Amino acid sequence: MQLIEGGSTQADQIGDLLSADPALSSRILKVVNSAFYGLPHQVTNIHKAVVMLGFDTVQTLVLSASVVDVMVHAGEALRDLRLIWERSMFSAVTARKIAQVLKNRHLEESFMAALLMDIGMLAQLKLHGDPYARVIRGELEKGQDIVLGEVTDFEVSHERLGQCLLERWNIPDLLSRPVLYHHDLAGSEEEPDDIRALCEITHLARQAAGIFYSPNKGVSIQDFKVEAGRLIDMNANEVDSFFRSIRDEVMDVALQYGLEVRGLKSYTEILDLANQELTQLNKTYEQLNRELLAAQKRAEELAHGLKLANEKLQRMASIDELTGLYNRHYFEDFFAREFSRCRRYKRPMSCIILDIDHFKKVNDTYGHLQGDSILRELGERLQNLLRGSDVAVRYGGEEFVVLLPETGLYAARIAAEKIRRAIAVDSFRYKPNQGLEITISLGIAAFDGTRGADSPQDLLKQADTLLYKAKESGRNRCCF
Ligand code: GH3
Ligand code: MG
Ligand code: MG
Repeated sequence: MQLIEGGSTQADQIGDLLSADPALSSRILKVVNSAFYGLPHQVTNIHKAVVMLGFDTVQTLVLSASVVDVMVHAGEALRDLRLIWERSMFSAVTARKIAQVLKNRHLEESFMAALLMDIGMLAQLKLHGDPYARVIRGELEKGQDIVLGEVTDFEVSHERLGQCLLERWNIPDLLSRPVLYHHDLAGSEEEPDDIRALCEITHLARQAAGIFYSPNKGVSIQDFKVEAGRLIDMNANEVDSFFRSIRDEVMDVALQYGLEVRGLKSYTEILDLANQELTQLNKTYEQLNRELLAAQKRAEELAHGLKLANEKLQRMASIDELTGLYNRHYFEDFFAREFSRCRRYKRPMSCIILDIDHFKKVNDTYGHLQGDSILRELGERLQNLLRGSDVAVRYGGEEFVVLLPETGLYAARIAAEKIRRAIAVDSFRYKPNQGLEITISLGIAAFDGTRGADSPQDLLKQADTLLYKAKESGRNRCCF
């Protein structure tokens, strides 16, 4: 580089120097003999090659050789970086290939600009170490936007940092500007034509590298095809054939630098992976949909179950399961409200407690199930014997309470007697041609709206005492 910048340098001096580096001189010979220069005869002399290529191209070739050297040595320390330089090498080969397609005369510069585009990442890594390596991994493994990660965590992106370094090293704008714009072309329109063309080539080369080195291959291929159509008028088929030979070319060029590229997939493999990604994407979509439907169904079932449970709870809170009559819980509430209403409006009410006679014996003789059946039938019969405004309650075991609003003692006695008689006269269901004789005892107490009881509990207690009296005095009777 010093020789070239020295000004008075002769091609011979450069040729001599280059001859000392077999890798570099073979590369220069390969370039000068490539189809691009279309020379009639093979050039085998390095001095002649220098003259033919010109100092600028030779400079670029030398530079790229040393950049690769730096990258490889830095890369030995970190696995992440090995992939980075491989990717740079890939981008460089792709950039030159694109320049060829475009018949751009800056073939080596295209190669070089692309090779240098991630040089800022080396500097970042040197500055920040492991935290920065994580950002690189995020890009390589998860396809995360590296520029965003850099600006967020390290204030400067590798594009900007790379460009600054190159400028400081007096590398021409033709190489440093494409580094600045390789992720985002916005701003490059204002560059001179030749630089802008190189910016676009580098940008496309970076996108191409995304196809081979990022995890989202399908998306990267689409992105590249769109950009290639827009920037260099390359259609989708041309893009596919463009990439078919890329792997061999990259490995070939790397070998010229004495490097071995491992793990670079062929374009066919890449397309396979992109397809797999697509099916995977569809599969996850289908699965999501299935899960959504299942969740929806589960929610509906849950809501339905909840509704049933609520209904059941509601019933349990007020209805006795066996007889379908109100239960004691409901009764106590209702009774208290009814009692105070009667007291306030000075209205009468009566309360009957009834209990099956010798029910224990019924259970013992006919079984508990038959006992249950009798309780159920007694519930039905009570409902039928009562007026709509009367409330029948299963108070406990085989004990029932009937509340008779707006009913004085006299009418309550008639109602009670009616019930007692009906129960005693018609036998209960048992077998097809055989019923069971059941009797009940009843206690009747009344509140006239002013006198007769101090509280609902008092009224109930009176009725209970009278029931006891009915039992005592022979059962199957009403006491008041
Ligand atoms: P008494 O004439 O003095 O009332 O005699 P009893 O046998 O009816 O009275 P006791 O209180 O001694 O027995 C009540 C019986 O009622 C005891 C129990 O087995 C029965 N019983 C209470 N609840 C149920 C029930 O839900 N189902 C059935 N099958 N029997 C019940
Ligand atoms: Mg980059
Ligand atoms: Mg009893």
